[in-house]
Amino acid sequence: MRILLVYPVYPDTFWSFKHILPYLSRKAAFPPLGLLTIAALLPAQWEKRLADVNVAPLSDEDLAWADMVFISAMLVQEAGAKDIIARAKAMGKRIVAGGPAFTAQPERFPGVDHFVLNEAELTLPPFLEDLARGTPKPLYTTPDRPDIATTPIPLWELINFRDYVTMSVQYSRGCPFDCEFCDIVVLNGRRPRVKSTDQMLREMESLHEAGWRGPVFIVDDNFIGNIASVKQFLPRLIDWQARHGYPFKFMTEASINLARDGELVRLLSKANFHKVFIGIETPSTDSLKECGKKQNVAADFSQAVKTLHQNGLQVMGGFIVGFDSDTESIFEQQIRFIQKIGVVTAMVGILTAMPKTRLWQRLKAENRLLGDATGENTDASLNFIPTMSREVLIQGYKRLLSTLYAPNNYYDRINTFLRNYNPTARGKLVRGDFQAFLKSLWRIGILSRARLDYWKLIFKTALTKRKALPVAVELAILGRHFQLVAKRALLATDAWADAPVDNSSHTM
Ligand code: SF4
Repeated sequence: MRILLVYPVYPDTFWSFKHILPYLSRKAAFPPLGLLTIAALLPAQWEKRLADVNVAPLSDEDLAWADMVFISAMLVQEAGAKDIIARAKAMGKRIVAGGPAFTAQPERFPGVDHFVLNEAELTLPPFLEDLARGTPKPLYTTPDRPDIATTPIPLWELINFRDYVTMSVQYSRGCPFDCEFCDIVVLNGRRPRVKSTDQMLREMESLHEAGWRGPVFIVDDNFIGNIASVKQFLPRLIDWQARHGYPFKFMTEASINLARDGELVRLLSKANFHKVFIGIETPSTDSLKECGKKQNVAADFSQAVKTLHQNGLQVMGGFIVGFDSDTESIFEQQIRFIQKIGVVTAMVGILTAMPKTRLWQRLKAENRLLGDATGENTDASLNFIPTMSREVLIQGYKRLLSTLYAPNNYYDRINTFLRNYNPTARGKLVRGDFQAFLKSLWRIGILSRARLDYWKLIFKTALTKRKALPVAVELAILGRHFQLVAKRALLATDAWADAPVDNSSHTM
C-alpha cells in the first residue's frame, strides 16, 4: 500500500512566521508533527511519502503514485485542504482525513471518503482493521481519550530537516483550565495526559540521531498542565541536554501561573527553554472573568513577564479584543498594557467563536452566531454579533494592529524587554544565524522604514548587552513578519491605506 500524507498550505498568519523564512533560507516554520506521528502508526511495511505544501507544491506525480491520500489540517488551512481533496478526488484517490479541522466540523469537507477523527491512537486502528477486511466505514470517532504514553516517535525520515526553522515534539495533551473561547479543551480535554520521561528522552535522542540541532517547539496545549509530571521530567531533560552539549533550544506554550513557580521557572531555564507563549488575553478583569480565564484574573502581568524575562524566557503573548465586557476604551488599554509589559511578539486577535467551544454554545443559545470560524485570529469578519458596535470593534482592532506593529512602538517593546532580559540559553551560533544577520542589515537596516530603529537597537545592544545581540537581531527580523502580517490583515479589512500609523499612543 502506498500512502501519501499531505499537509495543506498554511496562510499568512502570525503563527506561520512566513516572513522570517527568506532570512533563514528555510521553507516553513514547523513540520507537520501530526502527520509524522500518523505515519508512525501505519503498518511499517506500507510505503509512505509526505507532501508538505508549505515546502513544495503538491505534484501530480505524487498523487498518481498514491493508493490513498491522508490529509490533516487545522481550520485555518480549510481552503488548502479543500483544494487537495478536489485534486485527489479528480484522480480517483481514496481520501482519509483527520486532525482538528475535520474533527470540529467534518460536514465542511465533502469529498472525504473516511474521516478518522479525534485522537488517531484510538480511531486509526479500527479503520485499518476494517480496511484490511475490505469494509472501511466513512466515520471513525470516539469520546475517549488515549493514553499518549504509547504514542510512537514521529517518522522524521519523511521530511528534510533543512526545510524547517524549528522541529516540533509533544509532551502532553489537554489543559486543566476552561477558557470559554478555547477549542483545545474541546479537542483534547481538561485532564492533561503526558508522555513518560523515558519516552520523551527517546524522542529527543531520535531527533538528535537524525541530525537535528537548534530550536525545538514543544507544541503542548499547556506544557505545565500537569506540574508534578513536568517537574519529574525536567531534571532528566536537563541532564540529557548537558550530556549532549545543549543541542536543542526549546520553546513552548504555558499558562501564566508558570511565573509564580520559581522552581519551575529555574528548571525550564536550565533545560534551555528560551521562549514561552502565554495567553495573556486582556488587561480587563471583567473580560477575564467573563471568559473564565481565572488563572489570569489575579496575575500581576508586569511582574510575571519581568520574572520570565529575567530567567531567560522570552514571553510571546496572545491578546484578544471583542469580549462582551470590553468597552470602547479597551483598544487604548491594550496598547498601553502591551507596551508597558514589554511583550515584543504580541499576537493580537479578535475574538472568534470556534466550533463547539463554550463561547460558541453560549452565542448560539443567545442567537448571536453568524457563521463558521475561519480559525484565523486576525480575521475581522466576525462570526458573531458583538455587544460593542461592530464598526467600533473593527475600527479599534485596526488601530491596535497599526499602532502595535509600527516600528517605533515595536522597537520600544524590544528595549523594554532587553532591560530585563537575562540571556541564559546555551547553544552555538551557526552559519545560518550569521547569514540571517547579514540579510537583516540589508533588508531592515537599509530598505525598511524601521532602519533607524534597527541601527539604534543593534549599536545599543552591541555596546550594552552583547550576549543579547542574537535575540535583538531575531526580534528585528520577527518585527518584519509582524508588520507584514498586520499590513495584510489591515488590507483584508480594506483599511491599510486610510489607517495611518497612530503614534498618539506611543507610551514609552
Ligand atoms: S489556558 Fe490556554 S489552553 Fe488552557 S483552556 Fe485556557 S486558552 Fe485553552
